[in-house]
Amino acid sequence: MKRKLLIAIVTALGMNLSSYALQTQTNVQVKKETVLDEFKLYDEEGKLLRTNRDSTGKEGIVAASKYEASKIGADIIKKGGNAVDAAVATAFALSVCEPHSSGLGGGGFMTLRIAETGEVIFIDFREIAPKNATPKMWVLDDKGKVIGKQKTDGGKASGIPGEVAGLLYLLEKYGTMSRNEVLQPAIDLATNGYTVSPTLAEVLKETYDTMIEFPEITKIYWKDGSFPYETGDIIKNPDLAKTLSIIQEKGADGFYKGEVAEAIVNSVNKYDGLFTLEDLAEYKVSVRKPIVGNYRGYEIISSPPPSSGGAHLIQILNILENYDIGSLEVNSPEYLHLFSEAFKLAYADRSKYMGDTDFVKVPLGGITSKAYAKNIINKIDLTKANTHEPHNPWQYEHEDTTHFSIADKAGNMVAVTKTINGYFGSGVCVDGYGIIMNDEMDDFVTGPGHANSVEPGKKPLSSMTPTLILKNGNPFMVLGTPGGAKIFATVAQVLSKVIDHNMDIQDAISAPRIWDNTSAEINYESRLNPEYIYKLQEMGHKVNSNGEWGSGSVQGIVYMPDGTLRGGADPRRDGKALGL
Ligand code: GLU
Repeated sequence: MKRKLLIAIVTALGMNLSSYALQTQTNVQVKKETVLDEFKLYDEEGKLLRTNRDSTGKEGIVAASKYEASKIGADIIKKGGNAVDAAVATAFALSVCEPHSSGLGGGGFMTLRIAETGEVIFIDFREIAPKNATPKMWVLDDKGKVIGKQKTDGGKASGIPGEVAGLLYLLEKYGTMSRNEVLQPAIDLATNGYTVSPTLAEVLKETYDTMIEFPEITKIYWKDGSFPYETGDIIKNPDLAKTLSIIQEKGADGFYKGEVAEAIVNSVNKYDGLFTLEDLAEYKVSVRKPIVGNYRGYEIISSPPPSSGGAHLIQILNILENYDIGSLEVNSPEYLHLFSEAFKLAYADRSKYMGDTDFVKVPLGGITSKAYAKNIINKIDLTKANTHEPHNPWQYEHEDTTHFSIADKAGNMVAVTKTINGYFGSGVCVDGYGIIMNDEMDDFVTGPGHANSVEPGKKPLSSMTPTLILKNGNPFMVLGTPGGAKIFATVAQVLSKVIDHNMDIQDAISAPRIWDNTSAEINYESRLNPEYIYKLQEMGHKVNSNGEWGSGSVQGIVYMPDGTLRGGADPRRDGKALGL
């Protein structure tokens, strides 16, 4: 059924389109494959299976949020590529088969360790505000709030994308394979198609009302452009395959200049965007020093600004280090209370100080100092919940993105977190080229005068936290997750479970988690013991259930004492670790 006809029918029936969507989607029919080679992601009824996500390897592990992408990365290593080659191939594959989370129209960060030299590097390929962007670019109501969805949907939501520049920089500098080799699997995936998982089917349903505004995107992600694909369907994206082939042939110039760049500018500006060809032609990757801290003798290497993630991860760990977490039962009230209080302290600082350090001064040394942590823990009462200084309300980012971890026996470690921000980014899809544009501008605060206000060429504040951990200089762990502002709190919990409780990486990832921030309400996964939740309430915490499996999608790898590698992937979504 064609879109216009569908709209006419549902309107005539007096329904709105989302209710039509929900009604027609109740009986999920799983028509096609439920098994992706040897990995079964969901059952015959289209229900996500949350098992078999882990893996053990001798040579290496690729742990990504899609089996197809992990497999492509693992195959690259089998063909003789190094961890960097695998990372680039995995990243391009994810841009095809996890289109709601990240892609060529987005950006991200990677933290990298080169085994041969022991060097650790942080590559920032975050989106930047277009030259014509200003703190006043969105139309506000009299209360200073953005009217409508200009910050999340349409052209003004998009920043200049960095993903292609970032991945190709990584390949050229540290890879061993050609663009041909690492891009071909993603091109094949886009050409031949991939199976819609229950996760993607759900996202397609949830984004119905946004998608319907953008025919260029529904053309690809809705059946015949008229209705969202369902679990078991196959999605092909020949337009994206074409764009990837142009990049394969011409490199970054194939994306940032010429026909692709022109199409990006036209598509974004068709929906009120502010892009120019110069913005694209001038995009540059930033190579930064990772932020480094220490937790109980482990070296934590993570993301510096424009992400707030690494600094606040280290701040939280510095706070927790003052307590004997290992002696507490995992996810007991006392344990959850400490994490909650540590999170609230960190988020209070985040909302006040954090921004792009290329533009504003951020007290990074203070935030990550152990002395500062020691000083602020006197605000923690072990028996009752405290609200910490209320700060300016901070609008929290959307919760979509992707993280993958790759590690090999030699000690090459790659952690990549990349994103188009909200599900399917801004909804703008570059016509004829299959690129979904990000809505990363939503990560700026609205209006002038804040460390994270819009300025031309500035990067919006992120929380992404791709992290490497060393022990006595040797590789120990790689991890990260999506989850918007929850990211570093999630990383802290998984990391602590492995370090403080010696938990297996898969168990640490699967275990229920909480989140708390300046609004002082513990968001918890309902698999936690209800008696413990009650106890937290008695201690004065407000609580709010996130359902059984809340948010986040952690992919992590641990170097085991026997020389093997253990990979874990998050059962909350489609993740799968593959060992070699
Ligand atoms: N845009 C967010 C950030 O940069 C990421 C969104 C997410 O993780 O879902 O922190």
